[in-house]
Amino acid sequence: MPLPDDIDDLDAEFPLGDGSADTDAVVYCPYCNESVEIAIDPGSGASQQYVEDCEVCCQPWTVNVLYRADGGADVSVTPLE
Ligand SMILES: [Zn+2]
Repeated sequence: MPLPDDIDDLDAEFPLGDGSADTDAVVYCPYCNESVEIAIDPGSGASQQYVEDCEVCCQPWTVNVLYRADGGADVSVTPLE
C-alpha cells in the first residue's frame, strides 16, 4: 500500500489556487499603529508564519496568516521577539 505524499496531501486539502482566496490584507502595525496593506500568498499554504518589515516604520513583524475554507484570510502581526 503506497504511502501518501505529504506535500500533495496538503495541496489537496487546500484547493485555493483558483483566484478566490485573499491575496492581500490590511494589518495594523504593533509599533507605529499605521494600517498597512500587505500581500499574502494562498499558494504557500493554509497556515503561514513569516517575518516582514513594516512599510512605514521598518520594524520587523511576525506575520500570521490563516486561510479559512472560504478563501478568506485571518491575518495578524505581532512584534518580532
Ligand atoms: Zn510600523
